[in-house]
Amino acid sequence: MSTIAQQHAQCLNHPRREAAARCTSCGQSYCRECVTNLEGRMVCSSCYRSKTEVKVKAPRDWFVIFAVFQSTFGFAVLWFTVWFIGRVLLSIPSSYHEGTIWERFGF
Ligand SMILES: [Zn+2]
Ligand SMILES: [Zn+2]
Repeated sequence: MSTIAQQHAQCLNHPRREAAARCTSCGQSYCRECVTNLEGRMVCSSCYRSKTEVKVKAPRDWFVIFAVFQSTFGFAVLWFTVWFIGRVLLSIPSSYHEGTIWERFGF
């Protein structure tokens, strides 16, 4: 019974062609030309386009967020480094001559 139904299934884009595969996304029947393998699943060209468009768009948004985060984080790291070096440089002259700087670092 199922073989008869498959024989009559036709491609949605090409009515005269026999359907070779079914789109795993929209469930419509298509010929071999109209389906694409997307990560091991057969999808039609329109579903493939919509899926890949979402995929391309998402990293772009993340890239902007990442870029803003990176610049903010980079500035914070730079500020902290300058602050930390300033603290170390300020603490060295007095304790270095007294010989206590080595004790501070556990020597
Ligand atoms: Zn589809
Ligand atoms: Zn087709």
